[in-house]
Amino acid sequence: MQLFEKLTEYPEAERLVLENTPKMPVEEVVLGESLGLVLARDLRATVDSPPFDNSAVDGYAIRASDSKVGRVFEVVDEAPAGRPSEKSVGEGEAIKIFTGGVIPAGSDAVVMVENTSGWGESFELKKDAETGQNLRASGEDARKGDLILREGTEIGAPEIALAATQGYGTLPAHRRPRVVVLSTGTELVEPGTRKLSPGEIFDSNSFAIVAQAREAGAEARRVHAASDDEEVLRAALEEALENADVVVTSGGVSVGEKDLVKSTLLEIGVEQVFWGVKFKPGKPLFYGKRDDTRFFGLPGNPVSAMVCFDLFVRPALMGMMNREDRERPRVQVYFEDHIENKFGRMHAMRVSLKKTERGWLAESVGAQGSGLVSSLTKADALALIGPQSEGIPAGEPVEAILLR
Ligand code: AMP
Ligand code: MG
Repeated sequence: MQLFEKLTEYPEAERLVLENTPKMPVEEVVLGESLGLVLARDLRATVDSPPFDNSAVDGYAIRASDSKVGRVFEVVDEAPAGRPSEKSVGEGEAIKIFTGGVIPAGSDAVVMVENTSGWGESFELKKDAETGQNLRASGEDARKGDLILREGTEIGAPEIALAATQGYGTLPAHRRPRVVVLSTGTELVEPGTRKLSPGEIFDSNSFAIVAQAREAGAEARRVHAASDDEEVLRAALEEALENADVVVTSGGVSVGEKDLVKSTLLEIGVEQVFWGVKFKPGKPLFYGKRDDTRFFGLPGNPVSAMVCFDLFVRPALMGMMNREDRERPRVQVYFEDHIENKFGRMHAMRVSLKKTERGWLAESVGAQGSGLVSSLTKADALALIGPQSEGIPAGEPVEAILLR
């Protein structure tokens, strides 16, 4: 058995994670799969957008100089979207046109059907028209060659739309890290498969971690839990490391005799960056690397696993995609009562938040045990309570990490 040699302080541990986590290679990512990635180079317009002058309404294309209330126009053709008319509009003539239809030659205004006597082979104008009215000019959104999106922009729905208007089928971006999640523990049973025998529990961590990894934008999959057996564990880890950018395990990383994750990792050539953080919940956290693969050994206690994921793995995954917003937002909160921290290390306390006229009032969600999965469903934030012996007086500002 091995004890912790040295506990790394929380901010230092996060810094070490980020410092030792490389960016993913840049790839041409299919447009529809690019949400949440970051553009790896500037994007320019390839065409004028819209590509042609077109109608903003349903109505008639006419010559503005012909416009006079009461005048009757002859309808000579129609120009629905996608089917330009080959005719041109002469004096006293009109072409029926629909939104997105190409403005026909000869015409310089569109009158809405609501401002005419209606649809037909001819119509009477009810309202004067001006040159350019209801026309959307070619290139008014972007001109060929314009810089439309800058390198470093996070790709959201509007960016996807804009790139699509320019015909981009792929976007250059740091690809998503591939995460493999492996739970360890002889006691673990796959939920939904059978009833628990004495001493067993359902594996919840691997499901939670996959969900968290996907939420962070990574590609994630879980593999079947490994028992606390050296051979089984080594085989599972070797396999996970094969095709992953990041391997995340839960359990078996503390100082118990059945905690074999760290020793097995070192055996298969993973280099330890740190093991043990001065932080609660999640003291036994392990971080290591082998070639281009990064390795997080999260503690088995479900709250520790999820909180450690949020504070250490999530920023790493988002950093790998070059996301700037990899840190969760922080707010100042206060407590109504004096708060103690008897743990001798930074405590990320699960709290619910309420808005008051004095700011955000934090309240502990109740017992802070690391096995209490239900407590996380009630938490809005993690209040960072330092290990000061005198505690935090009521009303004093405290920094909190917003979880939702
Ligand atoms: P360990 O870190 O392996 O000592 O596990 C600490 C506690 O977390 C034990 O009570 C385990 O049964 C529990 N635990 C470990 N892995 C999981 C998991 N995948 N899902 C739910 N609980 C777990
Ligand atoms: Mg265990």
